[in-house]
Amino acid sequence: MGCSGDLATALPGFHCNRGTAGASVIVLEKMKSAGGNSRISDSGIAAPETDLQSARGITDSRDLFYEDIMQSGLNLNQADLVRMLVDHAREAFEWSRDDLGTAYLDRVDIFGGHSAARCYTAEKISGSTIIARQLERLKEQGVAVKRETRFCGYVQDKTGRITGIRAAAAASPDKEILMRARRGVVLASGGYGADVEFRRRQDPRLDASIDTTNRSSATAEALEATFEIGGQPVQLSSIQLGPWASPDEKGFGHGPRFADYIVFPYGVIIDPASGRRFVNELADRKRVSDALLNAGHPCIAAADSAAVAKAGWDISRALKTRVVRTYDTLDALASAYGISCEILEKTISRFNEAVSSGRDADFGKPILEQAGPVETPPFYAMRLWPKVHHVSGGVGINTRAQVINREGDPIPGLYAAGEVVGGIHGANRLGSCAITECFVFGREAGRNAAMNVH
Ligand SMILES: Cc1cc2nc3c(=O)[nH]c(=O)nc-3n(C[C@H](O)[C@H](O)[C@H](O)COP(=O)(O)OP(=O)(O)OC[C@H]3O[C@@H](n4cnc5c(N)ncnc54)[C@H](O)[C@@H]3O)c2cc1C
Repeated sequence: MGCSGDLATALPGFHCNRGTAGASVIVLEKMKSAGGNSRISDSGIAAPETDLQSARGITDSRDLFYEDIMQSGLNLNQADLVRMLVDHAREAFEWSRDDLGTAYLDRVDIFGGHSAARCYTAEKISGSTIIARQLERLKEQGVAVKRETRFCGYVQDKTGRITGIRAAAAASPDKEILMRARRGVVLASGGYGADVEFRRRQDPRLDASIDTTNRSSATAEALEATFEIGGQPVQLSSIQLGPWASPDEKGFGHGPRFADYIVFPYGVIIDPASGRRFVNELADRKRVSDALLNAGHPCIAAADSAAVAKAGWDISRALKTRVVRTYDTLDALASAYGISCEILEKTISRFNEAVSSGRDADFGKPILEQAGPVETPPFYAMRLWPKVHHVSGGVGINTRAQVINREGDPIPGLYAAGEVVGGIHGANRLGSCAITECFVFGREAGRNAAMNVH
């Protein structure tokens, strides 16, 4: 987050540098290394109507993507921002891949709540692949990233226009630095998933007993400074839990790749107390997380070795840390989690019938074309318990990425993008849509700030 010269921003990925829009830019970052949650993300980015989809004969459209996002968000989403997101998603993905040269895997995936395969993953399955390329581009263009420099608040002129910011270096936290922003400031300080006090005020269930997948940098001070100057708070209690997390490891860990990418499409989630399924494993994150919380204890994500092979994801680290465990028989799996063997076998055989008939009459899970019965040993399993993963609440913006005040008018000179923005995802964000959002609105914010749009 930050400023000086013409323009200031918080995340290097946001494309607002000399090379593209003629502004001089400084990026402020409070941590030692730049990249925030983006760096540790799985790098999944969603976009419809792409060349990768066409090559695989996948039918998709911007309208279908729009419907999926709205449905997952329970229509609480700000529709004009969602429209902007879906209309510019492909272009944003292509910008990252073709213009910046970020390497993406040659695969297209479907994750819970999407009704078409439209999710792409960067090489190494890590946001660090994306961030590294963005930092290189900044270097090529001479944009400074001032690390260990914390944004503390805004400077305004007497008309209310943002003309600069106050910051402090980690080395001398009491010494305030004033930075001028001739054209604008872009707020891109991320979410508040790791800010226990702030998130607990929005949702009292989310106290310190619930872990988070976020880095410790995901705190709300920059957002609160924006509210202090009149920025509009939007849906702050819309805080997403990741249903694919495990209580057997800290943070995001290695288990989610197994649960989200293998079990949810091809396997089952079992309540160990009943031995039965209780949810459509491919439902959106909110539905699956709520179902887990309602169960009241960790549940078991299970798949067979055919699913692991078919999905093609490397889960060796999860196996090494023993978050995911293997069992030679279903009986062994059942005993390990205190499940009745007889009931588990019935549950699996009913699920296998659903797979062969192509219809899950119990929970309405979409049966994918490549799906097969859960029957090939060894069987793989992991304990599931949700963690705070993403916040959909934040400050209000308009489609030009201008921060709006409580009356809905733009605050001159201030733009925002990324997880700090509220309202796009409504009640629940679909997987892979946060990075799309960062790219689409980050580019818009950078462009408009550089052109001093107001
Ligand atoms: C483990 C994990 C996996 C994920 N996987 C995916 C995925 O595959 N696909 C997807 O779409 N989404 C994913 N997400 C969500 C997604 O990564 C985030 O929503 C997105 O990266 C947020 O980007 P951002 O730029 O808004 O914030 P961040 O990337 O968090 O960057 C914000 C930056 O601002 C800095 N900052 C904050 N406050 C200040 C301040 N006061 N002064 C100076 N600097 C400040 C922070 O230190 C940080 O570097 C994942 C999230 C996590 C935690």
